[in-house]
Parts: sequence; structure tokens; C-alpha cells
Amino acid sequence: MRYISTRGKAPALAFDDVLLAGLAVDGGLYVPEAWPRFSADEMRSMRGLSYPELAMRVMSPLVGGRIGEADFARLVRDAYGDFGHRAVAPLRQHDANLWVQELFHGPTLAFKDVAMQLLGRLFDHVLKKRGERITIVGATSGDTGSAAIEACRDRDSIEVFILYPHERVSEVQRRQMTTVASANVRTIAIEGTFDDCQDLLKAMFNDNALRRELRLSAVNSINWARIMAQIVYYFHAGLSLGAPDRTVSFSVPSGNFGNVFAGYAAHAMGLPVESFVVASNRNDILYRFFERNDMSVAEVQPTLSPSMDIQVSSNFERLLFDMLARDGAALTRAMTDFRKSGRLTIDNAQWRNVSGLFHGHRVDDERTRRVIADVFAETGELIDPHTAVGIDAARARRGDASVPMVALATAHAAKFPDAVEAATGIRPDLPGRLADLYEREERITVLPNDLAAVSGFIRQHVGLRGAA
Ligand SMILES: *Cc1c(COP(=O)(O)O)cnc(C)c1O
Repeated sequence: MRYISTRGKAPALAFDDVLLAGLAVDGGLYVPEAWPRFSADEMRSMRGLSYPELAMRVMSPLVGGRIGEADFARLVRDAYGDFGHRAVAPLRQHDANLWVQELFHGPTLAFKDVAMQLLGRLFDHVLKKRGERITIVGATSGDTGSAAIEACRDRDSIEVFILYPHERVSEVQRRQMTTVASANVRTIAIEGTFDDCQDLLKAMFNDNALRRELRLSAVNSINWARIMAQIVYYFHAGLSLGAPDRTVSFSVPSGNFGNVFAGYAAHAMGLPVESFVVASNRNDILYRFFERNDMSVAEVQPTLSPSMDIQVSSNFERLLFDMLARDGAALTRAMTDFRKSGRLTIDNAQWRNVSGLFHGHRVDDERTRRVIADVFAETGELIDPHTAVGIDAARARRGDASVPMVALATAHAAKFPDAVEAATGIRPDLPGRLADLYEREERITVLPNDLAAVSGFIRQHVGLRGAA
């Protein structure tokens, strides 16, 4: 199995090289050269497997033998051994043929753990084999940072620096990052916004000397291995509900389009899917695209579901590549044009290639609160605002009621306690393993929004560990 860049001008790479590369050198994203496909019999034989066993089966053709089977099995078992539910990604029935798949049982209570827990271990394994070390620098508006920190803490071959906007993340999110006492982890509060953090990050990656000196690497959502790990739970849900002998639909709260793209990949690998509902909040660019072929960038608006407050979804490029019949030159033109004009132009014929499979749905904050309150009244369960957006979309876009609909629950209610309390009057408790989060000691470094200050800090701390 080799991977090619969506922009068509980077060398094809094997899985382990794609893992470490992140972005391709031509600025594109890596996708499998051809989607491996499971036959119906192969899928039937996967029913009833434990989550780690299923993960091995689904990911093996994508890893393509680049990690030894016994090693890979151990990494996968370790990655999912620490989830708070034995099924890892359990399904819970909410209504007639409407299911919620809980993806928030990982250490930081958001679905990002499902991919990140494996990614950290894969990085460490490959780097150790090669005798290399890297420095991961990331910018976060909340969930990604804590997931990356939990996944990479205490790993010898990785240094982690996470930038977040000072006083602009929730208290739970901040504490999940600042209370990790690991020598290889540093969180930096930047006096600025999330965009400032991203600009600092970009500037560091664009500084080739710095990039080489520190061996900078990223774990952001464009990393192929994150998508790969997320494909597994689509199979897990589908097979549990009768696939391949039955078709299933999914509703996915979407931001950077990584999660729903993993669903598309599962479909490309043989899972029979009736439709994907791409659920958005008021930042509705994806909704407009899938409903009427209008992808034009608007101002980002803050909402109750901040992890979806995104206009330009980085992983959308991977779907666009398939929409344009995998023509790298056409894709490069479309993306360059999109960056310049803020508007993506796609032929109606090409748009129709995917608009039958995807539907868009958008939910404003008022409706999000109402759904949280309704679900609590109906089921006694507290759901987080992102999950509420997905459940509303699932109900609104059910289609054929005989097709099971799975709404993905992407965060635990306790990760967004203020919104949940405002909607229901009840403040959700943190699960047992995080119950003392508010008592743990924080380690906070505040730095100005200044490239020299930030890169200086990183250099100094990498040096300290390197010398130790
Ligand atoms: C990251 C995130 C999303 C959006 O997922 P994408 O893969 O970026 O589309 C949705 N909900 C929560 C809770 C998240 O953390």
C-alpha cells in the first residue's frame, strides 16, 4: 500500500513515512493510492470481534506491512486499553432505529482520543526503530491539545509543546493540558487568539532552519494516521447493526471534516452506507456545500460547540480529490482559486458524484440548547453541545426509517459543563478518573504573541531534555 498526495506532485510514500510527514511536500494531503476493499464475507467474519481485534483487521491493509504484526497488535491493544468502556466505542439506542455511538470514553473525554492514543504510540514506535527524536508543536482551541498531550506524555522520542490562547479555552480544557506533569510536555498560553497561535505555528514550520534544528512535526487533523484510526469505529457500528447485509447511515458533528471523511473511507473500503449527514453549527459552510454546491467562506462565529467553529475544513481536500476523479492538477487549481477568492467552484456534475451520499444540516445555539434539554427529558442522559448538533441532524435527516441511523457523540457532557447546565439545570460530573481534575496542580507558562519568545522557549526546553 502506497500513499499519494492530493496535489499530485509529491513522491508516493509508505505508511510509516506518511505518518511522520503529515503534510506532503507539495502542500497536499496523503490518501491511499487505491482504497483497499473488504468483501462481504470478510466483513461478516469481523462481526463480534473486540475493538482492538477489529482495529487490527480494518487497519492492516492500510499499514501495508510497514509495522510488524505483533508490534502493531500491541500498540493497538495499549491504545484502547485505557478507555473507560470495555466496548471502546459503544452504541446506545436513543429512539426507534436511532443510535448514538459514544466516542468519548478516552482519557480526555473527546473523540480525538480514539485516533490520538494510537498516533502517539505509532510515532514513538517508528521513531525508536529509526533512532530518531522529534518535537511536536501544536496549536489548539481546546480538544486537540489535551488529546495530543495525553497521547504523547512520557514518550522518550517525542517532545510536545502545545500553544493555546491564554484565557480563551474552557477551564476543563485548560486543566486537562496544564496538569500533566510529564518532562516531555509543555503547554504555552499565548497572549492572543487561537488564530495567533496558528500563525505562530505556521511561522515556525515555515522557518526551515528551525524546522530542521528541532525536527518539528505536527499531529494536526490532516495526519493520515488519525483518519485511519477513525475508520475503525464506523465498521464497529455498521457491523453491530447488521452490515454488510444491512445498510447504515451516520450523522457526524463536523469541523475539519476528518471524522466524516473517515466514514467516507469506511464506505470506500466496502461498508454499505446509505448516507452521511454532515452536521454543522452556525458556521455552516459544509451545509451550504452539500445542500446547494455553495462553498464560500464567511467569518467564523463563536458557538456553543467550539470544536466545530471552523470555516475552511482542512480534510475536505481529501474528498474533493475523489470528486475531481483524483486529478491532482485540477485539485491544485481549485484549491489555489479557493484560497484566493474564498469560493470553491465545482461543476454540478462533479458535485452530484457525492451529493447523493452526503447531506448537510445546520443547528444554531438556541436549537442546540433545546436538543440537550429534550434528550435529557426523554432519556435522562446529559449530552454535550457537539453531540446535540449531531443528534438533531440525525433526526432531521433520517430518510428511510428502516435504515439504522448512528449519531456520533464526540464529547462527554462534562467537557462542556456550562452549556449543559444552562440547558438542563444539571451540572454534569467528570467521570471517576478525572474527578480530581480541579484539585490537580497546574503548570502555566504565559508567553507574548511573539515568534522569538516562543521559539526561544521551545529551543531552551528541548535543549534541557536533550542534555539530561
Ligand atoms: C474536533 C471535534 C469535532 C470536529 O471533528 P472534525 O474531525 O474536525 O470534523 C466535533 N466535536 C468535537 C467534540 C471535537 O473535539
